[in-house]
Amino acid sequence: MVDLNGQYQSIKEQINSSISNILETSAFINGPEVHAFQKELQEYLGVKHVIPCANGTDALQIAMMGLGLQPGDEVITADFTFAATVEVIALLQLTPILVDVDKDTFNIDISAIEKAITPKTKAIVPVHLFGQCANMDAIMDLAKKHNLFVIEDNAQAIGANYTGENGKKQKAGTIGHVGSTSFFPSKNLGCYGDGGAIFTNDDSLAHTIRGIVNHGMYERYHHDVVGVNSRLDSIQAAVLRTKLPLLDGYCNARREAARKYSKAFKGQPNIVLPITAMNHCDGICDTCDCHVFHQYTLRITNGKRNMLAQHLNDNQIPCGVYYPIPLHKQKAYVDERYNEADFPVTNQLVKEVISLPMHTELDDEQITHITDTVIGFVNS
Ligand SMILES: *Cc1c(COP(=O)(O)O)cnc(C)c1O
Repeated sequence: MVDLNGQYQSIKEQINSSISNILETSAFINGPEVHAFQKELQEYLGVKHVIPCANGTDALQIAMMGLGLQPGDEVITADFTFAATVEVIALLQLTPILVDVDKDTFNIDISAIEKAITPKTKAIVPVHLFGQCANMDAIMDLAKKHNLFVIEDNAQAIGANYTGENGKKQKAGTIGHVGSTSFFPSKNLGCYGDGGAIFTNDDSLAHTIRGIVNHGMYERYHHDVVGVNSRLDSIQAAVLRTKLPLLDGYCNARREAARKYSKAFKGQPNIVLPITAMNHCDGICDTCDCHVFHQYTLRITNGKRNMLAQHLNDNQIPCGVYYPIPLHKQKAYVDERYNEADFPVTNQLVKEVISLPMHTELDDEQITHITDTVIGFVNS
């Protein structure tokens, strides 16, 4: 699904020298590399504060702790996503409220959010799924109207641009009150271990969060709040500093691969292409910068999805089903408040979606082999 080694080979000398530099200086934690990466990421994202931490799940948890959310507060998030989002909500004893998604973009459905808001609602967590932003204009409007926080789970869309209704371009993850990301190796900006970060333009929230990631300390050995231990190590920061200047190129390579896939699949019966929300361009238009294709995900609408996955496996083509089970049906998160009739899209998507290999090193021959194999099977 991803070719991490191919990408490493293309930057091997820089990576190796930056890592051996850390080994020589022995500043393994909170060294100058971490600080430099933080500043460089702030500049890239155009955001005032980046707070690095240990992984993307911690980043979400710490963001919620920083906002002072209290047990019993309701937090609305998408039913169709990776479990980390709902997991931290539950861990903090907040009440997760899962809602349905949009079938074209796979992102949280605005009318479903609106329907789920109660006097107890305190926050919305849009997940920018598979590499493109949820409808942030509508989400920020709802948040303003109901006095809610917006926490963007940007683990899959770092580098994506969001052009607002007012024409202003902002980076995914920097639009809400706080954003989070993951640097897990297979993410679009991946390190060589675990890593994550929190973003905000709010000075006071940034200060609170800097203490929370470090055992609630604002002054050495004075613990003012209950915190956690969540750090990005210097070796990961060195890898990320090497890769950050390449991120836009990596995003372009993914978009280019997505365009080639979509050109091949366009017009095929029983195959629905991923749609880019901002201009509904099928991901084919050459100017689109709103989708960074963390995943390239098709819908197979003739009931053959599972057979296709098997067929691809038999032909040594990797594929993935993200995600096979709606969160509201996961054992850990079932709740009698949920009504199946409220999740028609998620319940359908889990049966139809299939993600194809997507990374920065895909070549034309691989893409043609993959598209021929998919088309040949689906319409056989
Ligand atoms: C990967 C991911 C996370 C978790 O990140 P980790 O670094 O693995 O903890 C959270 N949310 C989404 C949507 C993800 O894809």
